[in-house]
Amino acid sequence: MSVMTFISPALRSETQDLTALSAPLSIAERQAALEIGRGLVKGARARANERPYLDAFLQEFGLSNQEGIALMCLAEALLRIPDDETADRLIAEKLASGNWDSHSGRSDSLFVNASTWGLMLTGRLVELPDELRSNANGWLRHLTQRASEPLVRQALRRAMKIIGSEFVVGRSIEEALQRSATDASLALCSFDMLGEGARTDEDARRYYDAYVAAIEQIGRSVEGSLHQRSSISIKLSALDPRYSAIHRERVHERLIPRALELARLAAARGIGLTVDAEEQDRLEISLEIFAAMAGDPTTRDWPGLGLAVQAYGRRAMAVIDHVAELSRSHGRALAVRLVKGAYWDSEIKRAQERGLAEYPLYTRKCSTDVSYLACARALFTASDRIYPQFATHNAHTIAAVLGLARTHRDTAGRAVDFEFQRLHGMGTLLYDEARRQLADLPRVRVYAPVGPHADLLAYLVRRLLENGANTSFVNRFMDERVPVEQVVTDPISEIEALTTVEHDRIPLPSHLYGPSRLNSRGVDFGRRSSIEEIGQCLRSTLTLPSPESRYVTAGVVETAFRAASLAFPEWRGRPVDARAEILERAANLLDQSRDAFLALLAREAGKTAGDAIAEIRETIEFCRYYATSARELQGRVSVLDGVTGERNELSHVPRGVWCCISPWNFPLAIFTGQIVAALVTGNTVVAKPAETTPEVALAMTDLLYRAGVPRDALHVLPMVGKEFGEVALRQPALAGVVFTGSTRTAQWLNRALAARDGAILPLIAETGGINAMIVDSTALPEQVVDDVLSSAFGSAGQRCSALRLLCLQADNADRILEMLEGAMNTLAVGDPTDLTTDVGPVITASAAADLERHIAQMCQRGRLRKRVAISPNTGSVPRDRFVSPALIEIDSIDALEREAFGPVLHVLRYRTEELPRLLDDLRANGYGLTLGIQTRLDGTRRMLFEGTLAGNVYVNRNMIGAVVGVQPFGGTGLSGTGPKAGGPNYLHRFTTERVLTINTTATGGNTALLTLE
Ligand SMILES: Cc1cc2nc3c(=O)[nH]c(=O)nc-3n(C[C@H](O)[C@H](O)[C@H](O)COP(=O)(O)OP(=O)(O)OC[C@H]3O[C@@H](n4cnc5c(N)ncnc54)[C@H](O)[C@@H]3O)c2cc1C
Repeated sequence: MSVMTFISPALRSETQDLTALSAPLSIAERQAALEIGRGLVKGARARANERPYLDAFLQEFGLSNQEGIALMCLAEALLRIPDDETADRLIAEKLASGNWDSHSGRSDSLFVNASTWGLMLTGRLVELPDELRSNANGWLRHLTQRASEPLVRQALRRAMKIIGSEFVVGRSIEEALQRSATDASLALCSFDMLGEGARTDEDARRYYDAYVAAIEQIGRSVEGSLHQRSSISIKLSALDPRYSAIHRERVHERLIPRALELARLAAARGIGLTVDAEEQDRLEISLEIFAAMAGDPTTRDWPGLGLAVQAYGRRAMAVIDHVAELSRSHGRALAVRLVKGAYWDSEIKRAQERGLAEYPLYTRKCSTDVSYLACARALFTASDRIYPQFATHNAHTIAAVLGLARTHRDTAGRAVDFEFQRLHGMGTLLYDEARRQLADLPRVRVYAPVGPHADLLAYLVRRLLENGANTSFVNRFMDERVPVEQVVTDPISEIEALTTVEHDRIPLPSHLYGPSRLNSRGVDFGRRSSIEEIGQCLRSTLTLPSPESRYVTAGVVETAFRAASLAFPEWRGRPVDARAEILERAANLLDQSRDAFLALLAREAGKTAGDAIAEIRETIEFCRYYATSARELQGRVSVLDGVTGERNELSHVPRGVWCCISPWNFPLAIFTGQIVAALVTGNTVVAKPAETTPEVALAMTDLLYRAGVPRDALHVLPMVGKEFGEVALRQPALAGVVFTGSTRTAQWLNRALAARDGAILPLIAETGGINAMIVDSTALPEQVVDDVLSSAFGSAGQRCSALRLLCLQADNADRILEMLEGAMNTLAVGDPTDLTTDVGPVITASAAADLERHIAQMCQRGRLRKRVAISPNTGSVPRDRFVSPALIEIDSIDALEREAFGPVLHVLRYRTEELPRLLDDLRANGYGLTLGIQTRLDGTRRMLFEGTLAGNVYVNRNMIGAVVGVQPFGGTGLSGTGPKAGGPNYLHRFTTERVLTINTTATGGNTALLTLE
């Protein structure tokens, strides 16, 4: 099916964006909006005693205090913890972490401290003992000392359910509809079936069935014309586990048909259906799906198809234009729900991680507010084709939208038909007050989440964030300490008062690291144009010579060392700034040559696009970070304090010729990182790249020469490792060795160095590890599954940081394993030049055979739980280089004797009381590279961090992809000897310290002392 595509407009600055949004309100409209908005707040404040009892509670326990955060953490995790012991520990930890006394007498003490707590702890509206009012800390401590008692646990679970149920209308659609039939405030709803982000095909099927059942039921039980009836909202991420722009084909094959079916059903039942707005990098693909729904001729006469548009998104106006165009070209009425957007904080983080050129959303709240009003105006203008729905809990926004409505007429000269929307559990008092004060307030629909508590958590956390953030209207609305004039302000005036619209404390992703170095440029995989560009370079035909044809003979090694030694004085004599500039030039050149390296990495190393881009970025960052570090280390001498009449200077001087030996798994980043660290500090280099990946190394060497590295200072010799090592380690000019690879080779190098006569030389070695992730029952299964997939199977498991052993608390192991196996089913294993591939080949057929032997052996010791099918399309890579990802359950850590460097994950269950022993066992294997921890318990996190040998510990995230300068990387024990690569101490090891002491009184008296005033 051909669909109208949305093309994201070219990137501009936020200032340019806002200038382009012509002032959405006239001066008079602005003044009226302020007056009406303030009137609403004053009116609502006068009726504070009518506000829902949890409102005051949520306001008091917001995000600005420890207690609010403790409660949010409990709310996020408690209900999913299956075992009582862990639940009790979480309760005890979180309640002990707050200063509950400080809330006594704040807000309305009756509601906050007594009734609400009483309700939550006992399930009834009762007065609690006086002790709670006078000494909340003592009372809670007493409570938590008895935390093992089921009473407290049950009470807190109930409390969290009560907080949760404030935001859900029912556990099932039947329950929700019953409530809607009897509660007048819920008469007009848009039901949302909780659950987002399907991880497996089974999840997606379940969510789809739930939507179907809900549409049927809503259609049966409500009456009235379309916009006067309750409707449904759907999340596209619930309908397919691979819903993303990269998986466009799959989206067309699987998701679009499901979305079409849901729309057809809603049309047949005569109810509205709105597609919720999710992450910005899904915007383009969501519009493709929406366009397919809008283009469906079978539903053309149904005006109920709607789209949520996020005003914080800088493409919001373009999206509205696009929807209007869809409506025009298909000759059908559509609806738009205008929201500000619910994922602002996570979007900012994601854009920074991806090194995007611009944030896809506004960075100031007032910009979002202005964008909202500009979009509102556009919706009124298009109201002949689009039914506007304004979702907000902000009094000013309501007032301003009403002002716009008053000045607009449809083509027949009638007032525009539109509605407001609010979330269930929020904005009740505000809309009550608006209904009282404003005769022309239109209908108000309630977005009504439906589902069991377990599915509520992600939604609940977003609501608690919204209630707790001090930038948010609802947080300050009823707070008498904030004057009404500050709660309701004019966003256009705020923008006008700014010199730059961009937030001055949110640097652009490229400037994340301050003025000293630029962040590397990433790829926006949400944009089709970027995807096509990357796809194009991956498809480029590249024929590579065999690696062996590049090998040099052992005789060259000696010559290289001699030349490097001769080049040393000149190179070390250059100012550090000149050497650093060469690295920065290299970084820029690599950035410009990204596409060529991308193709090369895919072809020679079998890297997938995502992995190759990450590796190129890491290489650029090594160059920039070491350039900055070298300037700090060698750009000035440190003058040390001491007696008067003497000057003491500490400096760091280069050592001589370094031997750099790098592996094939990061043929660009590790190869370059080692070399540039040695070079920038003034050493010269003889490097041996991995046997299998000489082409990448030679291309980078050429780039370094072009950037200005003298040919004599850098000698790159592709050849067999053993032959190289034997000659290189005997060279008299050798001043140090930096190595990344196997523990066995590192030990060989260590012995060879020790066997040399003469100076004792430094060895920096980074080797492998049997890396574990420990997951307890407080962890969020969806997050665990995402992080396990990327940590264990990303880069086909060929990272030294990769996850090898997943340790699951027995109480929730089955749940996580079921989801993990389902998610593994969705992995695409095959041609690395295909953008949709998740797992490419391993480095050689013999490595694959070795891994297969390991899997067979482990299956005898444990139980094979899952293997993933290999796609028939392996591109130009022979099939015998593929190892299908494997999941093997073992009973004891002893079964795993060595690191298997590929997509093989072992899983082990543990009981809570066994955790200390598990940690001992992990230490006993002697490796210490990476450790993943997934827990909401700070105590567990501390215990594991203190007890592990691992050099890099990652909490509640994946455990790969250390960022240069941010997560210095390297292990201990059998996993290597520091200093950490990409860290502040790395360059020190490439230098020797030298101290210069000058008796400044020798040339006369102590002039400095004698001239003291
Ligand atoms: C009926 C309904 C349906 C909804 N559906 C969706 C949906 O499909 N998708 C979705 O994402 N959200 C959805 N939401 C949530 C909605 O985005 C938030 O409730 C909304 O942003 C809050 O806006 P407000 O006008 O009520 O409050 P306000 O307090 O006026 O605005 C808060 C909002 O401002 C924005 N903001 C805060 N700080 C900044 C900053 N520094 N820079 C830029 N912007 C900032 C954020 O969007 C934040 O949520 C829906 C809300 C409702 C009521």
